[in-house]
Amino acid sequence: MITVSNRSAGRRRGNTGSDEPLLSVRNLKKHYPITEGILSKEVGRVRAVDGIDFDVYPGETVGIVGESGCGKSTAASSLIRLEEPTEGTVRFDGEDITEYDSGEMKAFRRRVQMIFQDPESSFDPRMSIGDAIAEPLTVQGLTDKPRRNEIVADLLERVGLSESDADRYPHELSGGQKQRVGLARALSMNPDMIIADEPVSALDVSIQSEILALMNDLQKNFGLSILIISHNLAVIRQICDRVAVMYLGEVVELGRTDEVFANPQHPYTRALLASIPTADPTDRGMGVELTGDVPSPSNPPSGCRFHTRCPEVIQPEGYEFDQQTWRRVMDLRQKLDDSALNVEAIREMLITEVDEYETTEEVTTAETKARLRDEFDIPKPLSDPQAEAVLESAIENIVTDNEDDARDLLATEFATPCETQSPALEETDAGQTASCLRIENELPPTELDQTVRSD
Ligand code: ADP
Ligand code: MG
Repeated sequence: MITVSNRSAGRRRGNTGSDEPLLSVRNLKKHYPITEGILSKEVGRVRAVDGIDFDVYPGETVGIVGESGCGKSTAASSLIRLEEPTEGTVRFDGEDITEYDSGEMKAFRRRVQMIFQDPESSFDPRMSIGDAIAEPLTVQGLTDKPRRNEIVADLLERVGLSESDADRYPHELSGGQKQRVGLARALSMNPDMIIADEPVSALDVSIQSEILALMNDLQKNFGLSILIISHNLAVIRQICDRVAVMYLGEVVELGRTDEVFANPQHPYTRALLASIPTADPTDRGMGVELTGDVPSPSNPPSGCRFHTRCPEVIQPEGYEFDQQTWRRVMDLRQKLDDSALNVEAIREMLITEVDEYETTEEVTTAETKARLRDEFDIPKPLSDPQAEAVLESAIENIVTDNEDDARDLLATEFATPCETQSPALEETDAGQTASCLRIENELPPTELDQTVRSD
């Protein structure tokens, strides 16, 4: 459950300086039921978007960023009701669009235009570029052909193409040119807002920047608001005034782009930033790169959803760990809890490898324990003897087929508040809001042992 302690936090007014948001999203949820059997009984839910809040002000560009599968596209399609949201309100220009009937929705969809990653799919290959751009005008009842052509020529020029391109066909255009036509077509509706879902992800890096610069210009010239979705932080940095960072259906950090990049407050944001390649080989990045898979939104982790991967997951009371080692011990605990530790496989691997031990039970147990530790890169012994005793006892239980005992022991001794408490979005000293128990408990960010990347 996410609450926003200060909804205006980190907000920058749009170019028009308006105090009222153009778009205001509250507690938006989109769950997909998982059904079974002929009666389609609901047995679970994919919590693709699980209660997000954000605003877009007039003339503002807001980004949504996060790894693939975190719910960005679902957020966009449910907020404009291409798919009905499961819960939440969406206000646009002061009105609750979730109450709109189909006629009102039609008008709304003219005011809010969508741009997609693959402009190809939205073009009829047999329709010329000019006709494609003019089509929405025709649908609107603009039958005056010279006037239509005039508008098309103007739009083509505004998106960096020329009037003569009107006679060309989609297959004759490059990806970047197609995206320009996509923008021209969206603009022909004279929208207030453009929602662009990964608009440059399919393009060469050099072209990406041009298209983003174009979007920036168009925004200024037309006074547009833009909501841009991207998994790529570099894209967000180039054009967004503010950014919402999503993880597993939730917004974990929200604020001004310059502030979020200069001083990220959520460990997930720090990890995302650390994964941006930089030209400077001595740049250590800002945190530790992420490992592990994104958990399934049908069964999100308890507490803070990021705790299963968080490099800064809070340590248990009463023990002293080096943070990285603690993360690795948590990885082992995680695998054990997921019943994903295959001790038998480790044992068999050892039996084939280490034939000088003649596979007596004792020797293989010791070897298996060592190998299990190696698999998780956990040093032996841990620097804290008490932690070492707990871990050793758990590992002993694991390799002697007492996994339940190991699970209980680790859950009791090595518990983290991150697995039980859900952090709320809170305003931070840096200006943006973020949801992390370290912030709630006023714990400093961890000093992470940063290794220089060699590439
Ligand atoms: P993103 O755009 O951030 O990559 P999506 O919004 O496409 O993420 O997807 C979020 C999650 O919802 C994913 O786990 C995806 O598999 C799931 N999902 C998306 N659409 C559906 C659907 N129609 N039915 C079930 N699950 C879906
Ligand atoms: Mg997507």
